[in-house]
Amino acid sequence: MTTGDDCVIFVDVDTQRDFLDPEGALYVPDSVAIRPNLARLTAYARNRAIPVIATACAHLPGDPELKAFPPHCMVGTRGQTRIDETSRPDSRILGPDALFAEPRLPAHLTVEKREYDVFSHPSMNWTVETATVHSDAIFVVYGVATDYCVGCAARGLLERGCRVLLVVDAIRGIDQERETEVLTDLVSRGATLALTAAVCDDSDTRHRPSLHDAG
Ligand SMILES: [Zn+2]
Repeated sequence: MTTGDDCVIFVDVDTQRDFLDPEGALYVPDSVAIRPNLARLTAYARNRAIPVIATACAHLPGDPELKAFPPHCMVGTRGQTRIDETSRPDSRILGPDALFAEPRLPAHLTVEKREYDVFSHPSMNWTVETATVHSDAIFVVYGVATDYCVGCAARGLLERGCRVLLVVDAIRGIDQERETEVLTDLVSRGATLALTAAVCDDSDTRHRPSLHDAG
């Protein structure tokens, strides 16, 4: 990426075992195929010290969302944890009701939520404001599922005036038709689409895609 890395924030949406393991409680079809790209993005962020906001379902019995979906990512279960490709031992975990009021993002912030929209978290607005002290900040969004959590996260960022780049080969939807609709809607709202290889390309500065053009 050609943009200064201090202006880039990665948003890793719900890359948890229950969604990305074929045996998971709410496996997103074919999502195992994006795991190598998720690993590449995670390594790129770590090596470049790009801050990562990692969202995560953390459900308790009785959560309203569990009326619409089978129980998944229940607190204390293995299914709630991140897959190896995206897990970071240095993550700072923000519980579903925890307040984050610091002036800087940590290297890796896990935002736990009890609804699929991450903006249901009371600290998410402040987290985004903290991340956008650089007016040209760009949020690179990937994970699952496109037609639910990824769509909500990207739409929420766009509604707050943020620039959003969606990594199309590092996302997966539950319903393919809905996924196409969601992507079309996000692009009409100003989101840019890119591939993992373009986001993580360090090979040749002359031909790198410019994220300054995004959004
Ligand atoms: Zn959930």
